[in-house]
Amino acid sequence: MVSSFNPTPRTLMGPGPSDVNPRILSALARPTIGHLDPEFIRLMDEVKSLLQFAFQTENELTIPVSAPGSAGMETCFVNLMSPGDKVIVCVNGVFGNRMVDNVKRLGGEAVLVEDQWGTPVSAEKLRSTLEQHADAVIVAFVHAETSTGVRSDAKALCAIAQEFDCLSIVDCVTSLGGIEVKLDEWGADAAYSGTQKCLSCVPGLSPISLSKAAVARVQSRKTPVSSWFLDLNLVMGYWGQGQTRAYHHTAPVNALYGLHESLVILEEEGLESSWKRHQHNHLALRAGVEALGLKFIVAEDFRLPQLNTVTIPDGVDEGAVRKQLLSLYNLEIGAGLGVLAGKVWRIGLMGYASNPRNVLFCVNALESVLSGNNAHINRGVATEAVQKAYSQVGV
Ligand SMILES: *Cc1c(COP(=O)(O)O)cnc(C)c1O
Repeated sequence: MVSSFNPTPRTLMGPGPSDVNPRILSALARPTIGHLDPEFIRLMDEVKSLLQFAFQTENELTIPVSAPGSAGMETCFVNLMSPGDKVIVCVNGVFGNRMVDNVKRLGGEAVLVEDQWGTPVSAEKLRSTLEQHADAVIVAFVHAETSTGVRSDAKALCAIAQEFDCLSIVDCVTSLGGIEVKLDEWGADAAYSGTQKCLSCVPGLSPISLSKAAVARVQSRKTPVSSWFLDLNLVMGYWGQGQTRAYHHTAPVNALYGLHESLVILEEEGLESSWKRHQHNHLALRAGVEALGLKFIVAEDFRLPQLNTVTIPDGVDEGAVRKQLLSLYNLEIGAGLGVLAGKVWRIGLMGYASNPRNVLFCVNALESVLSGNNAHINRGVATEAVQKAYSQVGV
């Protein structure tokens, strides 16, 4: 007979999911109510306004899609694009490539603005590409590339898109809650995120937000949205403001309790405090891993505090190290992806997981496992480096 599934509690310091705040786990266990229950409708309204706060936007169409971040990405493309559309996609890592795939599958023409993995999207390259492609209708890019740990200048890129009369689609999956996201100030037209990165919620929902111009494009389409489930013209009837809500699909009721709780926690802490906390813990982790002798692959100005991509010491079997971290210390860190596979580790400090205890634990666990594998690292200095970094930022 199969018995209940009881996972070993881990410390999640990879590229997501991140450690879930226990307050969110207990919110998930509250009694399920009907998805058209008046109490649930109140929860939906609160989730919408909390998401507007998180995204820093007054966009009315700001809702969670009932599926993970990838579905948020697909929602933006499938609703804003029509077959034959020319879309400029900025690619500097794995997730930019996924956007290209979306465009192609929807019968569009993807024009790539390519930058090296580990560097941000170049605003100059985007501008010159748009000059050569006046018929482009959308510019898409990733704000925080989780495959490399790079932040791109979303404000500058959205402004250029606007200058060339293109709608912008911004991937904010890893950025939301961890670094500054300000959709209205950027003038972004469509953004999507995920619940399991810096919101520290369980995976499975994708907050999205569309500007008035983006909504107008969805409403004036000449061809129907090719996905029934993700068609915002239909979804708006369920999440819409001031309308009688009509059944579209059964909302993931308990998952939305979790998202609500995670956004309440974010509001209690304050956005700026959350961004600052991510930065401080990043600086301490950086001090520790650099003291060990590991190096960051991203230039300081463009580093994501919530996703730290570091080199692997020579001669070390990186997979064996990650395996030992997990089996001995119940600690998960991420492997490299794509061209960085086997070359780097990705250490996440996302949301609830971004705290001094995790920083020290990860640095010590790495030192211990690397020492046991005879790696060439500096021993006995990392703990002090972490401590010094915290005192420097006054934590
Ligand atoms: C994690 C991630 C996604 C995909 O989100 P899922 O919830 O895994 O579908 C998309 N973009 C970026 C930048 C991500 O980090």
